[in-house]
Amino acid sequence: MVGCLRRRIPGFTLIELLVVIAIIAILAAILFPVFARARENARKSTCQSNLKQIGMAVQMYAQDYDEIYPGISMATATSQCWTNDLLDPYIKNAKVWVCPSITSGTYGFNWRHMIKDTFSSPTSGVRMATVQRPADILIAVDVHTADLASGKENSTGGIFANCPKCVQPSWWNRYNHGISGRHFDGAVIAFADGHVKWMRLDQILANTNDLWAHSSY
Ligand SMILES: [Zn+2]
Ligand SMILES: [Zn+2]
Repeated sequence: MVGCLRRRIPGFTLIELLVVIAIIAILAAILFPVFARARENARKSTCQSNLKQIGMAVQMYAQDYDEIYPGISMATATSQCWTNDLLDPYIKNAKVWVCPSITSGTYGFNWRHMIKDTFSSPTSGVRMATVQRPADILIAVDVHTADLASGKENSTGGIFANCPKCVQPSWWNRYNHGISGRHFDGAVIAFADGHVKWMRLDQILANTNDLWAHSSY
């Protein structure tokens, strides 16, 4: 009986299924980098907020200490006081010291020209009155650890960012002078007036006179 023949059940052929899977794979390949970029953008925003708070803490510290930027004390092994210790009373949140793009990375200070560390005696930072261009001069920036040799981020983090023109101590790993390009090949900078900006790593390394106050304040 012809009328009893079952009609073919409508569905997907193998080819159709493969086409659908291929389209999904192509869409995923296009979208995943977009998602990754969006996530990194969010981390960069958090980093900018962190450095904004550090920049404000620097301003508050200077107001409380006769308009002198925070320095560093390495007088003895027991009385070491790092720049971040000096700023902690104005921040009161340990998370501010951690850039979210590295699990426990941190921020380094322009120690050659703003913090004025000598590695031997306690020092105070530069007087605010001597700084003619506070909106141009880097005071803190994304850094990676000092003993980095491989070019990879390390979990220990640093405290110093090196002026690319100054001679470094012999023990210092000179990879990018401590500055990390972890945010889209750039770093977030807090300036001496407290404002914050992202800059490309190559620009940060090239612009020593204006940005690092290598030749003038
Ligand atoms: Zn960062
Ligand atoms: Zn310098």
